[in-house]
Amino acid sequence: MSPGYISAKLRARVRAQAQHRCGYCLTPEVLVGMEMEIDHIIPLSLGGSDEESNLWLACPQCNRHKGDQVSVVDPVTLELVHIFNPREQKWDEHFTWSLSGEYILGLTPVGRATVSALQLNRAILVEARRFWAQVGRHPATF
Ligand SMILES: [Zn+2]
Repeated sequence: MSPGYISAKLRARVRAQAQHRCGYCLTPEVLVGMEMEIDHIIPLSLGGSDEESNLWLACPQCNRHKGDQVSVVDPVTLELVHIFNPREQKWDEHFTWSLSGEYILGLTPVGRATVSALQLNRAILVEARRFWAQVGRHPATF
């Protein structure tokens, strides 16, 4: 198989494992009306594989902001840390929702660095979360 080829069967399995939502901002496919992208946790350009263990779901915006990065700087400690790994790490150990549910707050260096690098509180996304909360579909639960 050529790099970047992921079978429909594997895509479906990863989608189900990710509960059909972005592994970073947790935006559910059903609320945006489109499928999330398959994210290579370690990018192919950095030697990552197409194996299931390296795949998760990401929304197009998180995927673009992530790009080929694997390590980013925590804005508080200025420490270089790995971007959150949605397959191996638990979201709620590194992030939490603000009281209003509109913002994702980083709880750890990994969480803060990922919020910053992937811009998890993009203005349009914060606005969308406001609407989702009004209809009882946000914040996401685990
Ligand atoms: Zn996202």
